[in-house]
Amino acid sequence: MAIYSDNPAISTAPYRGRFAPSPTGPLHFGSLIAAVGSYLEARAQGGEWLLRIEDLDPPREMAGATDSILATLEAYGFEWDGPVVKQSDRLQHYRDALDRLNAKGLAYPCACTRKEIADSSIRGIDGPVYPGTCRNGLAEGREVRAWRLRTTDRVLEFIDEIQGLQCQNVYRDVGDFVLLRADGYFAYQLAVVVDDAEQGVNHVVRGADLLDSTARQVELQLALNLPSVKYAHLPIAVNEAGEKLSKQTKAPALSLIDSSRELVDALRVLGQAPEAEMARASLGDIWIWARENWRLARVPKQRQLGSL
Ligand code: GLU
Repeated sequence: MAIYSDNPAISTAPYRGRFAPSPTGPLHFGSLIAAVGSYLEARAQGGEWLLRIEDLDPPREMAGATDSILATLEAYGFEWDGPVVKQSDRLQHYRDALDRLNAKGLAYPCACTRKEIADSSIRGIDGPVYPGTCRNGLAEGREVRAWRLRTTDRVLEFIDEIQGLQCQNVYRDVGDFVLLRADGYFAYQLAVVVDDAEQGVNHVVRGADLLDSTARQVELQLALNLPSVKYAHLPIAVNEAGEKLSKQTKAPALSLIDSSRELVDALRVLGQAPEAEMARASLGDIWIWARENWRLARVPKQRQLGSL
């Protein structure tokens, strides 16, 4: 069993965190939780907090969402460090990373269609486990559709600062996953690992809907010889139907009128217990309270919180 251990450089490097929304729609309460948690933890550690727009998937994006996200974050009083980075400006970096993996024999082209994979695979933690059909080369006459990572059959372990010990064998639970999609777009998993490393991000605080992706990201860090990162996955808010708040589940956009109440609600969901009258305070006063009182240890150690 291979054990993933933290890179000692992490403890000495200054804390650098980030918030990385995808512009698929306006910010909603679920995104506010991730923004607030990552921001307050970065500030509590005396660290920096970067903002990265993950606009890597045009078919899922909504026109105007990036501007709306930036305006909402500003209206809520978030202060990010450095320029806003957009993934759409960084495609060459993802291409270079794919080339590096390919040169090491760790990436390979795949001709399989979705249907072929569905017909010949078992279910894993995130859909069908890729059965490895193209691992040793494409069958005669088949054309390249996507590129995949050649994963290693081993258990990866890491300690999530909120959710505790996590173990996953990516090869068995997910299979060789996609780096460059059949529609020509780079996969989130590759882009996020390349960006976090190049931006010097060493602490990732985000929603627990991404907890099961983390081992894939660790696998990629190891394959690319990138420094490891510390992770803390916040519980995600769900609606009455038990679905994650998202554009797909029609979560309402964050209110710009009732922002104090939304911010106080987010703090409450994160276990920080602000007093009830705080919802009538100014955003500035709420942030002062939040920065003084934030404790990551109070965040509920759950992947999901009951309906709001
Ligand atoms: N862009 C992702 C999202 O909006 C978050 C990625 C991350 O924090 O690693 O769900």
